[in-house]
Amino acid sequence: MPLSSAPMPKEPSGEVDVVVLGAGSAGIAAARRLLAAGLRVAVLDARRRVGGRAATVALKGHPVDLGAHWLHNGPINPLVRLARARGEPLRQAPGERHLVIGRRFATPRESASLIRTFAQADAAIGRAMRREEDQAAARALPPLGPFGRRVLTVEGLVSGRPFDEVSLHDVPDMDYADNFFMAGGLGAYVARLARPVPVRLGIAARVLDWSGKGVRVETDAGSLRARAAIVTLPMAVLQREGLRFTPGLPIPVREAIHGFVPGVYEHVILHWPDAPFHGPDRLAMLLGGREEPPGLLTRIDGTPFHFFELDLPTASRFDGRDPDAPGRYARAVLADQFGHRAIRTLQVCRSTAWRHDPFSGASWAVVPPGLVAIRDRLKAPVADRVWFAGEALSRAQWGTVGGAWEEGERAASEIAAYLGPKGSDPAFS
Ligand SMILES: Cc1cc2nc3c(=O)[nH]c(=O)nc-3n(C[C@H](O)[C@H](O)[C@H](O)COP(=O)(O)OP(=O)(O)OC[C@H]3O[C@@H](n4cnc5c(N)ncnc54)[C@H](O)[C@@H]3O)c2cc1C
Repeated sequence: MPLSSAPMPKEPSGEVDVVVLGAGSAGIAAARRLLAAGLRVAVLDARRRVGGRAATVALKGHPVDLGAHWLHNGPINPLVRLARARGEPLRQAPGERHLVIGRRFATPRESASLIRTFAQADAAIGRAMRREEDQAAARALPPLGPFGRRVLTVEGLVSGRPFDEVSLHDVPDMDYADNFFMAGGLGAYVARLARPVPVRLGIAARVLDWSGKGVRVETDAGSLRARAAIVTLPMAVLQREGLRFTPGLPIPVREAIHGFVPGVYEHVILHWPDAPFHGPDRLAMLLGGREEPPGLLTRIDGTPFHFFELDLPTASRFDGRDPDAPGRYARAVLADQFGHRAIRTLQVCRSTAWRHDPFSGASWAVVPPGLVAIRDRLKAPVADRVWFAGEALSRAQWGTVGGAWEEGERAASEIAAYLGPKGSDPAFS
């Protein structure tokens, strides 16, 4: 069960100024801003909890994130700024990493060489972005030497797709130097931010009718009218017509939605008290074994919990197999790397499958080469009644809770300006 407690569903009915579809990071941000502007707001979410792809659960009595865990890009992340203002328990992510080659930890020289290879790749991407037409990001990389394959794997993991399927002009700044963690879990933090927001849970929006004045949302529990709507459903859900629009959306908007491809990033959550990794919250890379897994986050929050990460190629191997297959794989890889004795205390607690979740369909939305305009195209409202928001629209922070939050606030500010403020409520500002 999520740690957050949230209000029980109520029947949707009546009329509000704005209906917000989805109570993930974008929807919560939008609702807070609309309420602060004094507007009447209804928020609907299909799940029985808030937070969307940010969800903290209790495992063995510890809060553990099943989805988003890092607060990336501290200087521009609105959730870092807000956390500081609220006095939330933020901590900076350490810069140290573990590099394991075969059964030994790498020498300082090998580690330095890996770091240089990452810097070389970042510089090549930066140069190519400025000088070259859009293309597959991987094509902008020069030969990178012995750690080149590792760098490509990591870029593919954090992008959500192999790097040759990602637009060069859409590669975000992947500087891991200014990242933060939230004690008690990022999902729990997002749920705390939702407390002042009246969310109706367990209510899936089925149809958004924008044919008349304002909008009408149909759900299994009744319908709701509003002057405008903010749609924060994940792109993969919209692509599958998880929400039907009447009339259909304009062609450029539909094309933008269908231009994204699903990003895949999954956690196998391990409880491993005797893990050979020391120091809290460090990334680990394992090389030189039969498999070279995409990466780990070790001793999360100083506990025995670890994330064994799965990228798209690795996660896809388990599609159609039993839910324990990713955990067995993680065990086999770690046994190969460290020996069977080293994994005696290792327990697999959970494997996520956000790509198969009907309300997510992916970990985030990825822009393939040539389609870099689609994020911005969705920012224009449809008929001054339907706004889109969510991680997929953020240019600088796509695929993140911070980017989703920023986009929710943007859409809400535009609507508030359009509908006219009704007197602000300082509780939400
Ligand atoms: C395993 C994993 C790890 C990640 N790691 C990080 C990380 O470390 N840092 C980071 O910043 N980001 C990370 N992300 C990405 C981050 O979680 C998302 O970018 C962000 O949470 C998206 O927020 P959102 O509001 O755009 O969408 P969501 O959080 O998906 O919110 C959309 C909401 O819409 C609801 N919904 C769907 N269909 C309907 C419907 N028909 N009617 C009503 N409601 C509906 C959903 O239930 C959901 O609550 C990770 C994601 C995953 C899966």
